[in-house]
Amino acid sequence: MPAGNLDEALAIKGLKRFLADREMEGKLTPKPLTPPPRPEKVAIVGAGPAGLSCAYYLGRQGIKATIFEAQEGPGGMAAYGIPSYRLPRSVIAHETARVEALGAVIRYNTKIGRDITLEDLAGQGYKAVFVGAGAPGPTRMNCKGEDQGYENFMPGVDFLARAARGEKPLNGNRVAVVGGGNVAMDCVRTARRLGFTDVNLIYRRTEAEMPADALEIKEAREEGVHFHMLMAPIEVQADADGKVSGLKCLRMELGEPDKSGRRRPVPIEGSEFVMACDAVIPAIGQACAVDQFLPQAVVSEWNTLVADKTTGQTNLPHIFGGGDCATGPDILIRALAAGKNGAKSIVRYLDTGDCTPGPEDLMETLTENPALFETDPPLPYPGVTRQEEAPVLAPETRVQSFDEVESGLSPARARQEANRCLRCYRILMAAL
Ligand SMILES: Cc1cc2nc3c(=O)[nH]c(=O)nc-3n(C[C@H](O)[C@H](O)[C@H](O)COP(=O)(O)OP(=O)(O)OC[C@H]3O[C@@H](n4cnc5c(N)ncnc54)[C@H](O)[C@@H]3O)c2cc1C
Repeated sequence: MPAGNLDEALAIKGLKRFLADREMEGKLTPKPLTPPPRPEKVAIVGAGPAGLSCAYYLGRQGIKATIFEAQEGPGGMAAYGIPSYRLPRSVIAHETARVEALGAVIRYNTKIGRDITLEDLAGQGYKAVFVGAGAPGPTRMNCKGEDQGYENFMPGVDFLARAARGEKPLNGNRVAVVGGGNVAMDCVRTARRLGFTDVNLIYRRTEAEMPADALEIKEAREEGVHFHMLMAPIEVQADADGKVSGLKCLRMELGEPDKSGRRRPVPIEGSEFVMACDAVIPAIGQACAVDQFLPQAVVSEWNTLVADKTTGQTNLPHIFGGGDCATGPDILIRALAAGKNGAKSIVRYLDTGDCTPGPEDLMETLTENPALFETDPPLPYPGVTRQEEAPVLAPETRVQSFDEVESGLSPARARQEANRCLRCYRILMAAL
């Protein structure tokens, strides 16, 4: 059901976390899986959410995949992008251990295309490959000075990755972060935790158009981040030593809606001004780069992987893939789903040589978009119950460290939240 049609959406993330936390605490023990082992070799590019999920579901079918990972640890953007105050590293370590317990082997510091090629893998007897390489590259702001290599200028994903490794990658007191999505929110909140006292977010539209989660915006504000709306950068400025000294910006106003449906920002002539600052972090999106190791036949003009949305298969039948490298920057749950679908298709391909979707895939498509919830005429449901909320640390405490901000729902609140479920699946099942 589209969230919010009748009521505030069910806190599904909080409920799943409640169960996962119990499992991590040892209070719920998953049934041990001992599938009969299969001999086929399958390679996975990337130990991010898509790759780990693919390895997990292959493992459940008895296939012990080998994951080739360019970095020194698992998790992809979940570990080197999302800060630990939102997603503790212990959770990623626990999930990775579950994947390894099913037989997957992860070869760290091994980049496909640099250390080993796909042809090498074919020569070593790998029968199928799943590509979960993510969207690692920054995108440009297209403004003067951004390519000058100035000290204290750093793309958001690099800043977050270095902060995740325990570094303080930029210095100073005043920082300007450019962007309006979750990555920008993570940058401003991380900058606060790294000791920047004057943290500024610059976005070219208004808060209503910001793609970041409302909760992220609220928590960033509580942590003292200054929001500057309707501003766009035009030049990164530096002093004589090549250190960032300011960001020249233009003020904007909103014009007609663009293709995304959001009102287009239009520059106000003669409105230039310089915001003095010690560091600049552009956080306006990431780019894919699968052309670095895949044949052109499966690469789009945006350097994303071209794969079937349901099966993950490309037009090179033994190559599958999904997650951010196929969709562009997206969200965890869709990367995990892509890994799961990819594993199912790989098993089918190994068994039959064919990947045509089965009835269960069609069932999933049907349940995703049942078209049963028209709001006209309105349904006779009052729709007033709110989500249960989990406790969070106070803003002045949380900016002191990278400790997790939100703890999970208590058992009583989790039960209460689960009771809010309207059980819409029954309507769907009746309609089928
Ligand atoms: C700062 C930030 C905050 C985010 N916040 C959220 C959030 O709050 N909620 C949410 O749902 N999503 C969030 N996301 C998005 C989410 O992290 C991604 O959608 C998800 O991680 C994508 O998973 P993936 O496996 O497709 O790619 P990635 O997580 O990018 O993993 C790809 C892996 O492949 C490896 N790799 C790449 N190329 C090669 C190669 N040639 N050889 C070997 N290994 C390779 C990389 O090192 C990486 O480990 C955020 C992303 C960022 C950057």
